[in-house]
Amino acid sequence: MKINSHYLELQDSYLFSTIAKKVAAFGESHPDVEIIRMGIGDVTLPLCSAVVEAMQKAVAEMGQKESFRGYGPEQGYDFLREAIVAYYAEHGVSLELEEVFVSDGAKSDVGNILDIFARDNQVLIPNPVYPVYLDTNIMAGRSVHYLQADESNGFLPMPEESVDADIIYLCSPNNPTGAVYNRQQLQAWVDYANKKQAVILFDAAYETFIQDASLPRSIYEIEGAKTCAIEFCSLSKTAGFTGTRCGYTVVPNTLVCDGTKLNRLWLRRQTTKFNGVPYIVQRGAAAVFTPEGQRQTGEAVAYYQKNAAVMAGTLQKKGVWFTGGTNSPYIWMKCPAGYSSWEYFDYLLERAHVVGTPGVGFGENGEGFFRLTAFGDAEKTKEAMRRIEVLG
Ligand code: PLP
Repeated sequence: MKINSHYLELQDSYLFSTIAKKVAAFGESHPDVEIIRMGIGDVTLPLCSAVVEAMQKAVAEMGQKESFRGYGPEQGYDFLREAIVAYYAEHGVSLELEEVFVSDGAKSDVGNILDIFARDNQVLIPNPVYPVYLDTNIMAGRSVHYLQADESNGFLPMPEESVDADIIYLCSPNNPTGAVYNRQQLQAWVDYANKKQAVILFDAAYETFIQDASLPRSIYEIEGAKTCAIEFCSLSKTAGFTGTRCGYTVVPNTLVCDGTKLNRLWLRRQTTKFNGVPYIVQRGAAAVFTPEGQRQTGEAVAYYQKNAAVMAGTLQKKGVWFTGGTNSPYIWMKCPAGYSSWEYFDYLLERAHVVGTPGVGFGENGEGFFRLTAFGDAEKTKEAMRRIEVLG
């Protein structure tokens, strides 16, 4: 027996465990201090009542012989896929039902999609990045070409004609940088991908945080995207589903490589290896797309957006360089001169009792940067920013 030795090439991720250890040690030696956590990107508001009621109803159905359901369609129930198609239509994107695949979240699909691609593909991955893109490619034994994201391009790398590509990862609004591609920038990526016959894996997990109507929420708003892009979405941050688990992936019928529809390959992959999302969860997810669900989840998103505005306002006042905050729940700030990401982490914990995430944990281009999230409590966010404002 031989193991997949590529797993041994993965770098151990000590980021969040190191943060937890440092915070616990500080808390023990300063028991009277209130520590404010703006590090991990988990939501804090509960599921909205439209979702809870829909799931309660579904639980009751499952307890009755007449309405009980066993295995469902692997790609998701039509009632949810129809709701997703209608949601896209509201934003001017027309999809076929069979182009939508319901899943237990974007993380699984972003990792699993690699099943349908050959190993010898040239993969472009931004640096810094949401770690799943990189680690899943390392697990599959692929070498990776980095797209350099930095202050000079506002952490929004653009295509370079001289670089070849087969698979391109883009995430907008971005985790960790909060940066958002505009229409022209995404058009350049789509044109490049079509020219190179590459596939864009577009992560739209934070699309509802886009407030500026001129910014694209889906890559399919861009001409030509349906022949080169797969889109991943999630209800985690948009509807508080981080613990409930539901997302969806769009694979257009017109996305064809080597004469093969990627939609057919993904369908085959899912029907072979996945048995679908629980009926109860899909009923909850469908409630998100009702007018009431949209109103209620919109209120939660607005709450987080307000936090982001408070954070952005403080940093602007202090003259700190940052990306994100307006169309994103993340703020990616430059550490004060001379501070590395971890030095700033220690400084902020000790002096302001505020916890963030060192940027270097997302790739070496994150060194000297720091991520704060807007998913916390509004009063605590204001207090954290008051403490940061008075720091030198
Ligand atoms: N994609 C990005 C960019 C994320 O930041 C996250 C979660 O933090 C995910 C995907 C995972 O989403 P899900 O909870 O649906 O698996």
